Amino acid sequence: MELPQVQALPEDIRFAIEVVGNVLPFKTNNYVVNELIDWDNVPNDPFFHLTFPQRTMLKDHHFNKMADVIRSGASKDEIKATANEIRFELNPHPAGQMEKNMPTLGCEKMQGMQHKYRETVLFFPSQGQTCHAYCSFCFRWPQFVGIDELKFAMREADLLVEYIKEHPEVTDVLFTGGDPMIMKTKVLASYIEPLLEADLPNLRTIRIGTKALGYWPYKVVTDKDADDTLRLFEKVAESGKHLALMGHYSHPRELQTPIAQEAIRRVRNTGAQIRTQSPILRHINDDSQTWANLWTEQVKQGLIPYYMFVVRDTGARHHFDIPLEEAWDIFRGAYQDVSGVARTVRGPSMSAEPGKVQVLGVSEVKGEKVFVLRFLQGRNPDWVHRPFFAKYNPNAVWLDDLEPAFGEDEFFFQKEFDAMNANGTANGEYVKTDPMALAADE
Ligand SMILES: *Cc1c(COP(=O)(O)O)cnc(C)c1O
Ligand code: SF4
Repeated sequence: MELPQVQALPEDIRFAIEVVGNVLPFKTNNYVVNELIDWDNVPNDPFFHLTFPQRTMLKDHHFNKMADVIRSGASKDEIKATANEIRFELNPHPAGQMEKNMPTLGCEKMQGMQHKYRETVLFFPSQGQTCHAYCSFCFRWPQFVGIDELKFAMREADLLVEYIKEHPEVTDVLFTGGDPMIMKTKVLASYIEPLLEADLPNLRTIRIGTKALGYWPYKVVTDKDADDTLRLFEKVAESGKHLALMGHYSHPRELQTPIAQEAIRRVRNTGAQIRTQSPILRHINDDSQTWANLWTEQVKQGLIPYYMFVVRDTGARHHFDIPLEEAWDIFRGAYQDVSGVARTVRGPSMSAEPGKVQVLGVSEVKGEKVFVLRFLQGRNPDWVHRPFFAKYNPNAVWLDDLEPAFGEDEFFFQKEFDAMNANGTANGEYVKTDPMALAADE
């Protein structure tokens, strides 16, 4: 670590950074280091936790295993081998991310795509599988550590176009990563322009999931191709499609620097909208005031609060997770504190295998304490917005920890979800598509 700020830290913190940084991907940049992290507040600073490896991100046995290897003076290869052993024990692909949602075109598996919810296809441009800095909680971490078989990436924009043509139910494409805004504008354009040029009447919204506005606002202000990016955004608006940036903002500080505000202003001037989302995380944003400030500041700058997520079960989750009840408390406290224009936000929401499940709250029904839940997105769209109930469990941090309330055997969606898994429809598109029926339509 050559950074003077890091060299000034106590030896044990520096050693922890080295040990954990060999297992989990670590990347920061001078904007994060100089503008976002408050070094007087380290080790408690939220951005220090968000981007720097921390001792407790690894469980003791994993930490000690790597620490011993490093202390023994092992070679780079030995360190890497140990790192990979540990990584495979960290649930690199939670919620069936890899195998469950991969669509097919003809007989070909679409490696760089996921199609889980009817309207929206996720697309992973192969050159956008990295970020300006890495968040230490991120479930995308396997993509950053160079385990090739875990990478899902795809290049061919024409395959994407073809897929959308064959799937008239798709209205949204969501470019994701990593961070697609890490790509040079020329490359980003090579994915987006074919979508505008093709005749795709069903495609209404192009979304770009990005943390660049938080971690590298220069991307749209002073980078060499900043203006080209803005022209590309304008082109989308002119084509009659909606461009939505799904901006990842974890903490109000990311909205407060002059350059971050200038970035927002410039993006909004292109006609693009910025919707915002973040997981709720211990050490980063685990109180209502932070969220109320975050949403209020966003609305003030013209952003639309969209999702509060529950952190997924992967990597260093145990360092960040928050029981569902507490997450709901924090959400509610913040929601009550903001005006209606900021209440576009929904959460806390778990992106679980059957769908996005929102914790509506804790309640009591006929003497039984329960969680009230509902789908915000479902593998079957018909599941959406039906309240359902789970037995109260103060320790639950994820849907898997919950059981149906009222002594029922299973949740209302379970049979159908099991059937999808059994007949393979959860293994590709969200519904069976009959290729003959499609051919007949054309
Ligand atoms: C969240 C998500 C989407 C987008 O859902 P919206 O509710 O429309 O924002 C699409 N696909 C997957 C796999 C998702 O997790
Ligand atoms: S910016 Fe997004 S994809 Fe990149 S590390 Fe952070 S959460 Fe993960």
